[in-house]
Amino acid sequence: MAKRIVVLGVGISGIGAAVLAKKKGFDVFVSDKGTITDENKAVLLNNEIEWEEQKHSSAKILNADEVIKSPGIPDNVDLIQQLIAKEIPVISEIEFAFRYTNAKIAAITGSNGKTTTTLLLGHVLKSAGYDVLVAGNVGVGFALSLAERDYDYIVLELSSFQLDGIQKFRSDVAMLLNISADHLDRYNNKLENYAASKFRITENQTTQDVLIYNADDAMMEVLTTKAKKLPISLTTKQTEGGFYNNNKITINLNNTTMTMQELALQGRHNIFNSMAAAMAARVFEVKDTVIRQAMIDFQNVEHRLEYVLTVHGIDFINDSKATNLNACWYALESMTKDVVWIVGGVDKGNDYAELTEMVDKKVKAIICLGESNENIIEAFKGKVEIIVQASNMQEAVNQSYALAGKQDVVLLSPACASFDLFANYEDRGMQFKKQVRNL
Ligand code: ADP
Repeated sequence: MAKRIVVLGVGISGIGAAVLAKKKGFDVFVSDKGTITDENKAVLLNNEIEWEEQKHSSAKILNADEVIKSPGIPDNVDLIQQLIAKEIPVISEIEFAFRYTNAKIAAITGSNGKTTTTLLLGHVLKSAGYDVLVAGNVGVGFALSLAERDYDYIVLELSSFQLDGIQKFRSDVAMLLNISADHLDRYNNKLENYAASKFRITENQTTQDVLIYNADDAMMEVLTTKAKKLPISLTTKQTEGGFYNNNKITINLNNTTMTMQELALQGRHNIFNSMAAAMAARVFEVKDTVIRQAMIDFQNVEHRLEYVLTVHGIDFINDSKATNLNACWYALESMTKDVVWIVGGVDKGNDYAELTEMVDKKVKAIICLGESNENIIEAFKGKVEIIVQASNMQEAVNQSYALAGKQDVVLLSPACASFDLFANYEDRGMQFKKQVRNL
């Protein structure tokens, strides 16, 4: 009899896992506690996959040989605990799909910069003419793509939740960009637990593999690995690794050196991301000329320090994806003009004191937009002359326009999640751009 695979949660990863499992001949059952979209129902129907929604029927789940769980479902819910007690393996879509590829894999994780670096590396490899799948948290699903066909190279963006569900997953090149406080609610509020999840990216790597990591990040001092370590630093020279010095990037690998100067992406954090992507591309033997050109013609990713428009000399920048303080710090750091800063939303436990110095240097006015304004006001009152509150995006943009002078910049970089006033960070960014265009 075919092995029974149960897929819990039907998002991009769940639907892909179900389709791939079906194609590989398993007996597949899909269960979602919420509602399943019509689009996904059609896919399930087409693939003759049995499903249920708005419930989890224990009888149909606890008889699984293996369970593929959406990264959105925490381990401490009852059903998952029952599965664990019955010793039924609970894995992620990443672990499952990994079994069905022979590609060379670059896997990218970190608190910030995953999407940018993933897309950047994908762009470099495609520019080199390689057969590349870019998947994971970005765009298309990993498993769904593999249900169609295999690739020569796969660039995968991985969140800590996805890494929590791996067993044997291994990448030829693992990239650990940085670790700063985020999602701690899922990790008993312990940064070490969250870091341990991220470190799993290198857990199954061998001496044949490579780990590209952030040499400037103290959290990584305790990182152990069998893989060859290639450090990346914005401040310190590396004999083998990447570093930034005198406005120039240097990538040293296997006694060869390449340098780069011109980058499409702005900001120090993006210099870091570019170094990491270039290093991975070098490991995959992409020519220097191709890497340099790809770094220049890369199109910035929407909602990440995205330039929107200049209105009467005021630049408007959409950094809606900055949902934590670290991302916001880099956004402020990269501003070269006086900033009117739109900040706020659902606060995940921010300690705004971390931004005091940067805000002192760069910010002339603050517009609080969202639920958790008290903390922001408390942190910056007396330090920033003007602090106002807005109850929707239109108000926030109008206020920013009134407060900014010619040559200033208005920066939406919220340091918070968006679920109070918006559907998600994309919606927040789109509303910002719409209101700016209406000015
Ligand atoms: P992720 O996928 O990890 O959320 P993104 O590339 O979507 O990362 O960027 C999220 C936010 O973090 C954006 O505001 C972006 O400007 C900022 N950011 C990008 N790279 C870095 C980095 N290396 N360090 C800190 N912040 C970064």
